[in-house]
Parts: sequence; structure tokens; C-alpha cells
Amino acid sequence: MVAVTGDVMVRLRGIHKSFGANEVLRGVDLDVPTGAVVVVLGPSGSGKSTLLRTINHLEKVDRGYVTIDGALVGYRRVGDRLHELREREILRQRTGVGFVFQNFNLFPHLTVLENVVEAPVSAQRRPVAEVRALARALLARVGLADKENAYPRHLSGGQQQRVAIARALALEPKVLLFDEPTSALDPELVGEVLDVIKDLARSGTTMVVVTHEVGFAREVADTVVFLDEGVVVEQGPPGEVLDNPRHARTRSFLSKVL
Ligand code: ADP
Ligand code: MG
Repeated sequence: MVAVTGDVMVRLRGIHKSFGANEVLRGVDLDVPTGAVVVVLGPSGSGKSTLLRTINHLEKVDRGYVTIDGALVGYRRVGDRLHELREREILRQRTGVGFVFQNFNLFPHLTVLENVVEAPVSAQRRPVAEVRALARALLARVGLADKENAYPRHLSGGQQQRVAIARALALEPKVLLFDEPTSALDPELVGEVLDVIKDLARSGTTMVVVTHEVGFAREVADTVVFLDEGVVVEQGPPGEVLDNPRHARTRSFLSKVL
């Protein structure tokens, strides 16, 4: 809950997405103000992961559009038509978005430091020495300064996820996306990962976090969004959506996860 400047960092408008006959997103509008933390809650299968993936064009939308910092994601406007960007341009654009997955997705054959250094050097073409210094600072920030030469398989799940967060931050992204970042962790390791995410929230990192951790949402979110069957059923400050939900579907969901 840091200064939110009033600018919108991520804007989704009228997002529709189907897989075959399965309409997974059915007209989603969402604004993520710069510096804000938006927590997305919703039942399994409600479209949360698909929604996150549209933000960096891992999923192409069928209708609607996404902008990040005012720039269209995945497309260029030519007259009144949208042309999809070329693969290289999409990849370059995607480096402006940090993505942290449930299963960490670290490179198993690279050390912790190499994992963090990889994308800024290969995808952003930044100088190795500079990126390495940044990577070390980020590993210190997530409490892993002493692990830079370890391989992922020698780390706990909580440590691996903290490396994944450092790796995402190394891109110096405009927004960080988390897809159930603690769901694969043993319960005793959840706290150390949430603490890192809370620290980022306090420092003004713009984030969208999909999670079932309602306590975390209450403490950290500026806005809580409840997604069900591909629509935003309600959204607002945590005190409203979590403590005083207006919709029966939200109440029913919360009664199961609280
Ligand atoms: P959540 O993250 O809320 O559990 P998802 O976004 O993963 O939901 O999935 C929403 C729906 O979309 C589910 O019915 C799922 O089976 C379907 N789905 C997701 N990705 C694909 C895909 N690549 N191909 C086909 N169906 C998919
Ligand atoms: Mg999911």
C-alpha cells in the first residue's frame, strides 16, 4: 500500500478468450494502477492463469486489448486495424513483464546466479558485469546471497521461488505477475515467499498476484478481484471484497478458502 500515482500501468479492456468452445474469459476489464498490488482470487478453472497470461501475450486474446504503460501488448495499430507484432518484438515486449510461476521454472542446469543473469543478458542485451552486480543485489534482497553458486535442485522450494522472484526482478519489469506463487510449497515455506512479495509491495512494485492466500490479500492488496467463470464478479479494497462481499458467489468462495 504505497503511493499509487494514479497512472494505470496495466489496462485490460473487454478481454475475451476461448479454447475451442470453452469461453474462458468473457469480457474482463481491469486496471492496475502504477505501484498498486492487485490480488486475483477465484475458484480453480475460473480463468485466473489465462487472464495473467494475456497480460504478456502468452495467450492471444480473441477480443479486447491489453496495454502496459500505455503501449498495446502484442499488436501495433495501423490505421484502425491491429497487426500482431513479430515474434522478436513480442519477446522484447515480454521482457518488460516479470512472471513468477507456481512451479518456479528455474533452469536446472544453471546456478542460482546464472538463472538470474540469463534473461537480462540474452534477451535485453545488457552488459554481463552490470547484470551480475544487479543479480547479486537482488539475491541479497530475497535472502539468498550465500546461494549464488548452488543449483536449483539443492534448494528448498521456498528458496527456489525466491530465486525465481529475483530472476523476474532482474528484468526491471514494469509489472510483476505471480501465478499462485506459494501453491506448490510445503506450508512451512509459504511465509518466506510471501514476505519477499510483501517487501516488493511496500517498495512500490506494480503487481498482479493470483493466490488463495486470503490473509496475504488482506494485508497487501490495494484491490482484490474475484473472478468466476471468466468474469470479474466484484472488485474493490480488501476490506470490502473480503469482509463484506456483495455477491453470493464471492461469499460462497470465501467460505471455502477462509
Ligand atoms: P485457473 O487458473 O483459474 O484455474 P485457467 O485459466 O488455468 O483457470 O483455466 C480456465 C479454463 O481454461 C479451464 O477450463 C482450462 O481447462 C482451460 N484452459 C486453460 N488453458 C488451456 C489451453 N491451453 N487449452 C485448452 N484449454 C485451456
Ligand atoms: Mg491457474
